[in-house]
Amino acid sequence: MTERAYFDWNATAPLRPAARAAMLAALDQAGNPSSVHAEGRAARQLIERARSQVAGLAGVDPGDVIFTSGASEANAMALSPGWSARPGQPALERLLVSAIEHPSVLGGGRFGPGRTHPVPVNSQGVVALDALRALLAGKPALVSIMLANNETGAVQPIREAAEIVHEAGGLLHVDAVQAPGRISLSFNELGADLVTLSAHKIGGPKGVGALIRRSGLHLSEPLIGGGGQERGLRGGTENVAGIAGFGAAAAEIASRLSAEAAHTLRLRERLEAGLRAITPDVIIFGQSADRLPNTTCFSHPGLRAEMAVIAFDLAGMSVSSGAACSSGKVQPSTVLAAMGVDPALARGAIRVSTGFSTGDADIEHFLSAWTKLSESLLKGRNVIAA
Ligand code: PLP
Repeated sequence: MTERAYFDWNATAPLRPAARAAMLAALDQAGNPSSVHAEGRAARQLIERARSQVAGLAGVDPGDVIFTSGASEANAMALSPGWSARPGQPALERLLVSAIEHPSVLGGGRFGPGRTHPVPVNSQGVVALDALRALLAGKPALVSIMLANNETGAVQPIREAAEIVHEAGGLLHVDAVQAPGRISLSFNELGADLVTLSAHKIGGPKGVGALIRRSGLHLSEPLIGGGGQERGLRGGTENVAGIAGFGAAAAEIASRLSAEAAHTLRLRERLEAGLRAITPDVIIFGQSADRLPNTTCFSHPGLRAEMAVIAFDLAGMSVSSGAACSSGKVQPSTVLAAMGVDPALARGAIRVSTGFSTGDADIEHFLSAWTKLSESLLKGRNVIAA
């Protein structure tokens, strides 16, 4: 049997061997990290080592890293009116979120839909800074803009957004889940106040994430109360093995960023040149924007993504469709809708995302499957809309 080619790294990345080794070692560590005896202290040490490793990825103080159960929880913690530079400051009344955020942000967290307002993006999927300035109207708000979009890969102008938000007296949260290992992630260069990360997007385990807060930023009410873990911000006995795996993946990424980014960029260029040569009418979303080196989101007139995903799967490849399936109904991606993409074209959106173990042979495999698929497409069979 031939090996499958995995092109869904933005959904989740395969586990890095270094993360697996760190987790296996941590699983055998007895002791609750809150206990003062030797076993407890050893478990605590594993967590603090990982905290330093994750902090190193973003260039922050380890004390500013709060471990969570994943990015969705970190986003929920970030989207709280209770963040302030000093205890006792008035709560933030409004939340502005870019229209291309992950559903865990679009929902508005503890602000709720009533106090959450979308910030539009342009046709390339990049947030419109003039609209952000107009929506703020000089008044403080919490603003959430992702660093790079999970569907199109479009990188957002975070530094500029931070200046606009801070001028109005607000705070900026950045969901940076898709960035590590692909583009540089310096907390200070971004100028953000809160940054979300997820272990499984970087080759760590699923079910672990972190929220990084600017030093001194205070949260009036924790999302999960309890035993005072994570500096009183997130109750619950820590997932020691998961956190150890997250730390190991972060340490590996920090040392390999430029090599992994250059590798995936070369593959992306080969992939997109191939797509254009085989099907000149292909549309690559966000192609004029600065994009993650590992992500291509494309469509073709007449293509139906759900059928194309099955066709690729049968040909031994895992790709993702840009359409979300909810309540049995396939709905066009909210990201592509926010970019003003024609709904018929959005229904055909396919996302191909790669990583360090993707090879040239995988790209050739993909292109030969696309050649066959597009022949059916152009003949009006199988993958086209009725
Ligand atoms: N934010 C973005 C941009 C994502 O792509 C994802 C994962 O799909 C999440 C948040 C949620 O991450 P997690 O699975 O760790 O909750």
